[in-house]
Amino acid sequence: MNKKTKVIIWVCVAIAAVLIVGALLSDYIASASQLSFSQFRAKIESGEIVEIYVNAFVWTGKTATGKAFTVNAPALHYYSDWAAFEATLIASGVDLSNLTVEFSNPNSGSMLESLFPMLMVGIVALVFFILMRQMSGANAKAMNIGKTKAHVQNNLKVRFADVAGAEEEKEELQEVVEFLKSPKKFADLGAKVPRGILLVGPPGTGKTLFAKAVAGEAGVPFFSVSGSDFVEMYVGVGASRVRDLFDVAKKNQPAIIFIDEIDAVGRRRGAGLGGGHDEREQTLNQILVAMDGFETTDGVIVMAATNRADILDPALLRPGRFDRQINVNLPDVKGREQILKVHARNKPFATDVNFKTIARITVGFSGAELANLLNEAAILAARAGRKLIENVDVYDAFDKTVMGLKKKSHVITEADKRIIAYHESGHAVLAGLCKNCDPVHEVTIIPRGNGAGGFTMTRPAEDSVFHSYNQMLDDICMTLGGRAAEALVVKDVTQGASGDLRSVTNTARRMITQYGMSEELGLVAYDSDQPVFVGMEYGHSEKTYSQETAAKIDAEVRRIISEAYDRALALLKENRSILDNMSRVLVEKETIYTEEVEMLMAGKDYKEVIAYMDAQDGNRRVNSLLGGGEEKTAE
Ligand code: ADP
Ligand code: MG
Ligand code: ZN
Repeated sequence: MNKKTKVIIWVCVAIAAVLIVGALLSDYIASASQLSFSQFRAKIESGEIVEIYVNAFVWTGKTATGKAFTVNAPALHYYSDWAAFEATLIASGVDLSNLTVEFSNPNSGSMLESLFPMLMVGIVALVFFILMRQMSGANAKAMNIGKTKAHVQNNLKVRFADVAGAEEEKEELQEVVEFLKSPKKFADLGAKVPRGILLVGPPGTGKTLFAKAVAGEAGVPFFSVSGSDFVEMYVGVGASRVRDLFDVAKKNQPAIIFIDEIDAVGRRRGAGLGGGHDEREQTLNQILVAMDGFETTDGVIVMAATNRADILDPALLRPGRFDRQINVNLPDVKGREQILKVHARNKPFATDVNFKTIARITVGFSGAELANLLNEAAILAARAGRKLIENVDVYDAFDKTVMGLKKKSHVITEADKRIIAYHESGHAVLAGLCKNCDPVHEVTIIPRGNGAGGFTMTRPAEDSVFHSYNQMLDDICMTLGGRAAEALVVKDVTQGASGDLRSVTNTARRMITQYGMSEELGLVAYDSDQPVFVGMEYGHSEKTYSQETAAKIDAEVRRIISEAYDRALALLKENRSILDNMSRVLVEKETIYTEEVEMLMAGKDYKEVIAYMDAQDGNRRVNSLLGGGEEKTAE
């Protein structure tokens, strides 16, 4: 075996050498000249480039006279996908009507060129695997990983310190790290540690980074796979790959399995009309079976990431599976400052760059977008021939990035910020005033990536599932608080309350049609709550009542809501100064928690609360782990 592998290695090295020489030569021969990304972009903008050939590695632009320019796709980082780049061009007003884009190669020469990186990577990986195999017999199984299409990374260098501005999440994951470090210690005491952890949040908020950091902190191998990898497979292949993946991880335990984009395979089953996707379902079933197959003593933790928890099959969220959910939200102003500082570590900045100010203007940016912002700034500085990155570079990069992000519509101006702050304060103040509302846990004006401005989250101090008539009325009142505050203060209303209105309408309707809470309609259950079989999202429960009854129900819904709205408006008017103070704190700090809400409700002035928060900076906001009941959010 030793001799054989040696031969293989030499063959690989030989091939690599040939390829390198080939690559160098082909560079010589190729007539196309290599450009930097900004040069390339400029040529598109000026209309000099009229044809573009896009592939995963190289983009080639041709002028009307047939002159060719290339740019390396990997160097485009943020725009490695043409569609995303095109969107930014269009957003900045570039006319692309004369540009032909083809997703192929202009000639075989560059086809070869584009294959080189792939071949090189392949060969290096092969050599690496063979070496690994030689070094330890225990790792013989590593070859199987190729079969699962999963990647394994040992000795990850990522640590919690690399994930900035997410103290609460780190706290929750610390337990998992401890467990992975010594699973036996936990097993001996009969302690149950969550087996599956679901990271939920918008793209670029550091979910993958977090999963890696857990592996890095615990010093365990990290097996990762993406849900979308399974989608294109033949029937049965996905399932067997899942089985392999879990087997390999088990043999290398303690270990972490990370399933990215789990929604690609984990969608609610049976929701589609006709047929469904057999392969996806089989893969999902295999994940469920594999997770159930763990012993309590197994040191394998499965982490998964998604930006949509609501579309996941409920079976995935049952106890013993992904029963722990960690929300990774977009960072607030303080989080953004910390993230900027993490990414500034290896870049030289001029002294005029103030990360506090940059953090202030980048509301709605994800961690990935902040990292990209600094990178763009570095590129601009380099282009300008500077040794240090200056404030002007950061601002230029900001303008550029915002252009690209406008489409995604989560960039917030100062004026929006104030309106959202009033809206959320409206919810929070009413939650504080209505005696049947749960205590406010968190109020934020940072978008969650679902179109809503911010959100206000309440959480019961203790577990209670009982929902009485008065609780529901208070809940409706609090949920209407956002709209009421807008009407009261801004003297105009935004579309930001649509989620709230949907929610109160549902609650009011249920009160009447299911819980018999309307005198007008009596103790009758109007909506049959039978499960619907033909596609859960399509079917509607059958109507069992007449037109007139339907009209009465609608009128009652309207009455309940408008009475609650009047109450909301009156309460906010009476407590206008609390509302004003809270929104000022929110504009400044973006996110506040129970403690600050209580101070404000007690009549403290915004200056005092802000000063308190400044003094507390660094050692706060880990109070969320307490409390039992179901949390509620108003958007
Ligand atoms: P997600 O998986 O949620 O889409 P990633 O983990 O892939 O996001 O994040 C992409 C990149 O953005 C990271 O590699 C990192 O550079 C940066 N990033 C995101 N969130 C953070 C954070 N909280 N702290 C530091 N960097 C971050
Ligand atoms: Mg990711
Ligand atoms: Zn709202």
